[in-house]
Amino acid sequence: MDAKKLEKFKKKLLEERMDLLSELQRVTSGEKSKDMTEAKDSVDLADASYSADYSLAWTEKINRQIREIDESLDRIKDGTYSVCQICGEDIPEGRLEVKPNAKYCTQCKEDLEKRGEIQ
Ligand SMILES: [Zn+2]
Repeated sequence: MDAKKLEKFKKKLLEERMDLLSELQRVTSGEKSKDMTEAKDSVDLADASYSADYSLAWTEKINRQIREIDESLDRIKDGTYSVCQICGEDIPEGRLEVKPNAKYCTQCKEDLEKRGEIQ
């Protein structure tokens, strides 16, 4: 992949990372105030703990996505960004457009999904 395209994907990844960070901030700060209101008003404590669990799961998901983006940015530096981590083939650009932090080519991803190793 040429430098210009790499730069484009890098920009995309950085933008996505920023979005995720602000989302993370929103979830963590929103969680606090929401829990406080719920603890005061709600008679259904199960609900409040469900929402706390949900925020936690959401936070973990965002953190994982940020990590994946960081890995992709590292791979841009290494020059292995558009290379499938399993078979070493090029990941199609169309796939990277949709998912800039893709690590595997379409075929390998499908294989992993079939084996239940990724979702
Ligand atoms: Zn592959």
